[in-house]
Order: sequence, then structure tokens, then C-alpha cells
Amino acid sequence: MMRPEDILVPTPSGVCCKPGGFHIDPTRPVDKALITHGHSDHARAGHGKVLATQETLDIMRLRYGDGFAGSVQAVSYGETLKLDGARVSFHPAGHVLGSAQIRVECGGLRVVASGDYKDVVDPTCAPFELVPCDVFITEATFGLPVFRHHDADGEIAKLLRSVALFPERAHLVGAYTLGKAQRVMAMLRAAGHDKPIYIHGAAEAITRYYQSRGIELGQVELVRGANKADLAGHITVCPPSAMSDLWSRRFPDPVAAFASGWMRVRARARQRGVTLPLVISDHADWDGLTATIAATGASEIWVTHGQEDALVHWCQTKGLKARPLDIAGYGDEDEADSEAET
Ligand SMILES: [Zn+2]
Ligand SMILES: [Zn+2]
Repeated sequence: MMRPEDILVPTPSGVCCKPGGFHIDPTRPVDKALITHGHSDHARAGHGKVLATQETLDIMRLRYGDGFAGSVQAVSYGETLKLDGARVSFHPAGHVLGSAQIRVECGGLRVVASGDYKDVVDPTCAPFELVPCDVFITEATFGLPVFRHHDADGEIAKLLRSVALFPERAHLVGAYTLGKAQRVMAMLRAAGHDKPIYIHGAAEAITRYYQSRGIELGQVELVRGANKADLAGHITVCPPSAMSDLWSRRFPDPVAAFASGWMRVRARARQRGVTLPLVISDHADWDGLTATIAATGASEIWVTHGQEDALVHWCQTKGLKARPLDIAGYGDEDEADSEAET
């Protein structure tokens, strides 16, 4: 019987599959990279060959240009590939458009690298698929019991109530450019909001791409072309960093909202000058993480990407083998404001 470490080894460049000859979400350039999703801490330019879903490849191309990799191969959800000594398949992670968990099977042992994931409904991407496995590599962005995201629809309703209450004011919603911004817009549409939604130029290419893939976002306009009076009574979605920029001064008496799992922490909202925190997360919360770990049936859990300790401890109390993976270079997109400018 193979040991998990014979299949996947954590290295400084990311998780490496020796029998398959590839890395998953490498943080440094490698020969062959399997990429879970388009967020820049997972999807970097400069690899020899990249295997990912078509959407992830398209998103990488939008962000980095045509030469982002030596060559690419699109992989469909559920399709099984043989890469040297490993069998590999991609499964929906429910995180952003095109996001995937990667299942690697070798010598009868099944390892699933989740990438980032969430187990709640998102109108902009395929729902999270539970993939049974022996070893589950989970993220832990919100890996503390204090993080319970509750109902995102309720947060959207709160935003719409504020817009109705203050028709003379603009509503600025800070939302990460890839994924969160489009999810907020799609949820507003699902809640019946039919006015134009304005966006910051940094979100334009990704938003148009989502629309081209059939995600219904209604009428989306650029702030660039609008005058100040137009923006009153409307919702504008922008990168979180833009809210404190000169850019935000063009808005009439703006209400500052921010859509993030971190908005559960009041001090974070205050620090950012957010008056309308919206707890909307593209990552599983504590209950989602622990329920998913249990449901995979895995007996061994590797925890990465965030607050590993509490989750490792939880696993151990449930009789599971668990360890943190110390790989530098994975960030949290909601906090990675600098990326909003790219
Ligand atoms: Zn992500
Ligand atoms: Zn991530």
C-alpha cells in the first residue's frame, strides 16, 4: 500500500505529485502545473504546461496574456486523465467560475486537493461536489469556530434595504474582482434588483467573461462613463482597495459596504471604514469545513491556507490523522487588495 507522501509531497513550490510528474497550484514556475482556480495565489504565470478547466485557463489568459504558459490543456469536470503513474480528475469546488478540486489516485490510494471551496449555493459556478477519498487536503481560510457565514441572501436583502432607504446616496460594495463581484451581482438579480449595476474598470474583463459564459448579471455599466448624479441610488461594485482611493470621491455621499467572510469580525469592518458589512464568503465556514471533512470519509487530513491549527485539532479529536501543510505563498483574496489593481 502506498503512503500519502508517496503520492503528494508538500514542497516549497507547492504540493508535488512525483508519480504523476506534476505540481498542484505551484507557487513557483514548474514544468507541469495542475491549477485549481484562477485566483492569483493559485494560478501563476510562467509554468511549462498548465492543466485546468477551460474557465480557469481563460481567466489566466485574461489576467496574464496569451503567453502565460508554455502550453495548456483544458480538463472537463469528471474527465479522468492518466498522467504517468497517476490517475487525475477535476471536480467542482463551488468557489468561483471554473474552480476545481483535484483528485489524484495512485496505487489504490485516493487524495483530493480541494483548492479553495465552499459548500453553499452560488449562482455563478457549479456546486461543490463531494469527492470520497482517503486523504483530503482542505483549505482553512475560515478555520475557526467563530466563523459562521449564515445566509448570504439575507446580506443581499440588507444591501437592498439600504439602497431603498437612501435613494440619494451611492452604494459602494467592495468585492474581490474575480468571483465575489460577479456573485454579488448575480445575487442582486436573483433578489429582483433590476437597475443597472456599476462596476470599477478593474472588474470589467472578468465580469464580461462571466457574462460570455452565460452567467446572468443584467445591465452592467462602467463607472467611468457615468456622471455623479447617475450613481445616486445605484449599486457600484469595486475592488476593496478602490473604496479608500481618490476614485471613490466621485460618488455622492457613498455608503461603504464590503462583501467578505471577514465582515463577521466587527473590528475589520471598522478598520476599513465599512458602514455596511456584508458577510458573503466564497470559502466554507467552520461548519462547512468540518462537515465536508467528515463527509469525504478521509482518514487523513492535510490543512493549508489559513488558520490551520484549530482545524487540525478538531480533526484529531475526531480520531483523524491531521497535519498542517506549511506552504508559503497562498493568500486570502479578500485581503489581497494589491491584486485588485491587476
Ligand atoms: Zn480562491
Ligand atoms: Zn486561495
